[in-house]
Amino acid sequence: MKDLIIVGAGPVGSHLAKKFSEKGNDVLVIEQSDEIGKPLACSGHVSPDIWKFVPEDKRDRLEQNQISGARFHDDGDEYRFYKENETVSYVIDRVELDRVKAEEAQEAGADYRLGEKVMDVNEHDRYVEVQTQGDSYNAKMVAGCDGASSTVRHKLDLPEPDQFYQGVLCFSDEDDSGDFVDVFLEVPEFFGWRIPRSDSVEYGAAVPKGEEPMKWLDRILERYDVEKQKVCAGAIPIGPPSTVTSDRVFLVGDAAAQTKPFTGGGILYGMRSSDVASRTIDIDSPSTLDTYEKGWREELIWDIRIGQVIKSSYSMPSIAQKMGMWLFQGEIGVHMDRPTSLFSLAQLKSLLRRN
Ligand SMILES: Cc1cc2nc3c(=O)[nH]c(=O)nc-3n(C[C@H](O)[C@H](O)[C@H](O)COP(=O)(O)OP(=O)(O)OC[C@H]3O[C@@H](n4cnc5c(N)ncnc54)[C@H](O)[C@@H]3O)c2cc1C
Repeated sequence: MKDLIIVGAGPVGSHLAKKFSEKGNDVLVIEQSDEIGKPLACSGHVSPDIWKFVPEDKRDRLEQNQISGARFHDDGDEYRFYKENETVSYVIDRVELDRVKAEEAQEAGADYRLGEKVMDVNEHDRYVEVQTQGDSYNAKMVAGCDGASSTVRHKLDLPEPDQFYQGVLCFSDEDDSGDFVDVFLEVPEFFGWRIPRSDSVEYGAAVPKGEEPMKWLDRILERYDVEKQKVCAGAIPIGPPSTVTSDRVFLVGDAAAQTKPFTGGGILYGMRSSDVASRTIDIDSPSTLDTYEKGWREELIWDIRIGQVIKSSYSMPSIAQKMGMWLFQGEIGVHMDRPTSLFSLAQLKSLLRRN
């Protein structure tokens, strides 16, 4: 019997595998895809915090561009938010991130089974049984790191995230190493984007259920008159469910909707929650799952709550959006993953510098 089975070898599953293997646990990661990191459905636009989770000597494999600000477009008007002489965010190769994290986990001792889809999960008094298409495995605990449409969450009857959005993205073969991303606010309830990736440019849009993401992506592409290539899509969960643990099973990452409500970004919130899981959960003591449930909420809840307020501004009337952006535009002191930093000294200083 394994100590821990992790379903899903995304960045969150592999980071969790590394952390639990380093603690001396016997860890098995089961991944449905034959190839780590594929299919791609993510921009890999992340805050500088990413480098806390990537070994220094692997950084070159990931980094594609550095971003210092964003241009928000609303009905022909443009508002700029930026940091002077500072990198606000990085554009990274998301497939390489998944590979690097899986390599780290394997070096720490985790076993990987690729090309096996988990079909069922059953909790028993002393263990959990995981069934794939061809095999059955037992472990003391199971972690569902299987993304937005988590099978583990579904099979354990754990509650669903509050909302799902649908994201679509594509690439064009323009060379662009610019340091601004573009954000398009005409997309209902969310936004569209343009991200310069050095040897290509990514365009994308995310919309609530019921809307057609391709229609909005095509509208953005019309402005730039480029051919779309390599189109891919994925679900974005927003609003964590009331519980992400059962007797011997816990969810981490998108499976637990540990995402930034105003962007849908979940790479860093998921990896931070993996750190909380490895600090709080003792595989031989199922009652420690309560400590994880409290711990990850303490780590993220204020940023998620304030993020939800920011997200609600996407549905405000255009005039209110424009006033808000006009007021706050210019240099910012905010950390992109920590909206609580809106109330920080750095943000206050940058507001004062403008007046
Ligand atoms: C269009 C789009 C753009 C995005 N851009 C960004 C961004 O710029 N920055 C950011 O931070 N976040 C972004 N995100 C969100 C980001 O992709 C997720 O938050 C992140 O991938 C979550 O990681 P994870 O490991 O929890 O889940 P995932 O990366 O989804 O990994 C889950 C893994 O589980 C596997 N799996 C699923 N079901 C099973 C099963 N039954 N059996 C076995 N394996 C299974 C999958 O194959 C996958 O490998 C974006 C999302 C979308 C859709």
